[in-house]
Amino acid sequence: MEAFPLLHDLATYQATTFDYFKPRCAGDGLPDLQSWLQVFRHSLPTFHAHAAQDVNMPDGTRKVQADAFAAEFEGALASLSADPTMELAGHQVQPLNCKTLCALRDNCLSNAGFTDVFLSVKVKENADSLLLLPALLLELDAVTDGRARLELALRGVFSGNIFDLGAAASAELYEAGGGSFADTRAQLLSRPWAVDHLDAFLGRCEAGPAYAKAVMFVDNAGPDVVLGMLPFARELLKQGTKVILAANSGPSINDITAQELQPVLLQASVGDAVLQGALHTGALSVMASGNLLPVIDLLRVSSELAAACVGVDLVVLEGMGRAIETNLNALFSKLLRAWGGRLYDCVIKFDRAQA
Ligand code: MG
Repeated sequence: MEAFPLLHDLATYQATTFDYFKPRCAGDGLPDLQSWLQVFRHSLPTFHAHAAQDVNMPDGTRKVQADAFAAEFEGALASLSADPTMELAGHQVQPLNCKTLCALRDNCLSNAGFTDVFLSVKVKENADSLLLLPALLLELDAVTDGRARLELALRGVFSGNIFDLGAAASAELYEAGGGSFADTRAQLLSRPWAVDHLDAFLGRCEAGPAYAKAVMFVDNAGPDVVLGMLPFARELLKQGTKVILAANSGPSINDITAQELQPVLLQASVGDAVLQGALHTGALSVMASGNLLPVIDLLRVSSELAAACVGVDLVVLEGMGRAIETNLNALFSKLLRAWGGRLYDCVIKFDRAQA
């Protein structure tokens, strides 16, 4: 593991956007520490339900172990709520932030014997999304204006990301059978979005030159990666950009792992000349990021990925955990209500490389 080589300043980089201990400041609308703990508490029913149905756990013990997970995680949150600076035996929770709380939840699952409670839902959503992909690629290819086509692909990235079982609102929507890719894309909130650098990015792509090499940190399995990130990557490939899809090294929530992404990519490429050609030449590849969490600390990526980043001139961080909670000093859609923003708002932040 080593630092992501494209980080501008290792000394000041922190894999956390929100300071949970910052004293509340009237008017900034930022959640306080107790509200953050509440966000994690709200995630419990979804995690418990998936654990209780985990077919990898023997029939008779599933429910008991799911309860054990919930009890340990709930207890830990209660302790931290009472004393946010305390150390918890067996867990690394300090400094308390999004990363350490995500790790705490995963550790509690692991302590109860669960390794991948969202596996079956990832498998199903990958398969369902692959069925929808050919029509989506045809739809994109029928758009002759390059700028409009790239925008449509990017809107797909937002709609795919609604499939996020780590976010209580998205998980509830999913359980209710809502949040389909097509409906979501058609109903994205009107611009300007919470952070809206769409025109800057499209303008940069239009003015060229094409990016030489992109590394894209992908997020969730299913529509997120298959119908969102893959068509976006394919647009870049068409411009001659080489693309590395960096996926987690191990399971966390419904994030796709590198091991899962490789066969999905092969299936996606069947019948598509662009993807097939790019896989054949190596212009498109999958790499394990070294990450095991739904968020990412760019001080610790796999050496393999770091080495492959020579020549990368576009870094894409996608998803709430990777792009916002840990790597962006900007708004966070799940919390926008607190800021007077809109639930399911979009954030597209485009920064040019620092000199
Ligand atoms: Mg995720």
